Amino acid sequence: MATIERMLVVGAGQMGSGIAQVAARTGIEVWFQDISEVLVEKGLGRIRSNLDRQVEKGRMTAEEREAIMDRIHPVVRLEDGAGVHLVVEAATENLAVKKSIFESLDRLCPPGAILASNTSSLPITELAAATKRPEQVIGMHFMNPVPVMKLVEVIRGLATRDDVFAAVRDLAERMGKVPVEVNDYPGFVANRVLLPMINEAIYCVYEGVATPESVDTVMKLGANHPMGPLRLADFIGLDTCLAILEVLHQGLGDPKYRPCPLLRKYVNAGWLGQKSGRGFYRYDQ
Ligand code: NAD
Repeated sequence: MATIERMLVVGAGQMGSGIAQVAARTGIEVWFQDISEVLVEKGLGRIRSNLDRQVEKGRMTAEEREAIMDRIHPVVRLEDGAGVHLVVEAATENLAVKKSIFESLDRLCPPGAILASNTSSLPITELAAATKRPEQVIGMHFMNPVPVMKLVEVIRGLATRDDVFAAVRDLAERMGKVPVEVNDYPGFVANRVLLPMINEAIYCVYEGVATPESVDTVMKLGANHPMGPLRLADFIGLDTCLAILEVLHQGLGDPKYRPCPLLRKYVNAGWLGQKSGRGFYRYDQ
């Protein structure tokens, strides 16, 4: 496989921005795409303010920051960024949206390009089936916030080739991450274990067992978690949490994964957590 020197990141939200930032810091040329110029600019702004903080803390020089920003090329049309070795898709957690992106990528990217998804839970094998290159489709699941968190779950679809897996694993290491090999089942490992805990924490609030603050304090002090499950849910995005639980529920067919009605209510209200200013906590400007 060719060494990965050019990457397209699809989706300039919180995960796409983090992936683009870390890849560009590794020296990779990154094309950075979303459905509108405004959204791409918002993503670039997020990366710049992250890097500004690194410069302020003396962890990076202003020249290094500029070199990283220069390696990130904003695009709106997929075809303008498709000439790459690897695509990491980080668009909204919705199977129909992702399948249509994979169909387009398969049409637009060079035959050797690897198509990876940062999906939290959707089936890699089904995304692969939307393309004519299922053996070159793989999961590359970064954790949030990407510049900080070490883990990358590298998910083999049913048809993923060994050299494709090896190329993505090696890239994750180059990016300073620790790749872990996982097979393609709903929620993989991270979210299959994490989301039922978050859902149970939400049930505790729903049933009046305790307030969000109390639930989080119990888990921080009682289970030594660095962050309580409800604060974490707010950071992940409550819409993303709901989407993952739906996938676990439908994909594994076990009622233990049913999303708490309170989570559904918050998402319907537009209370999506930190990104919308309100979830279990308030994030006023
Ligand atoms: P987000 O809402 O911050 O960003 C998603 C972005 O995708 C938005 O900017 C949206 O405009 C864009 N988008 C939607 N449709 C698109 C299309 N057709 N083409 C290009 N861009 C499109 O969401 P996020 O938290 O960054 O999550 C993105 C992906 O990463 C999801 O699959 C999610 O499950 C996964 N993920 C999220 C987390 C987390 O903690 N938030 C962690 C790991 C993985």
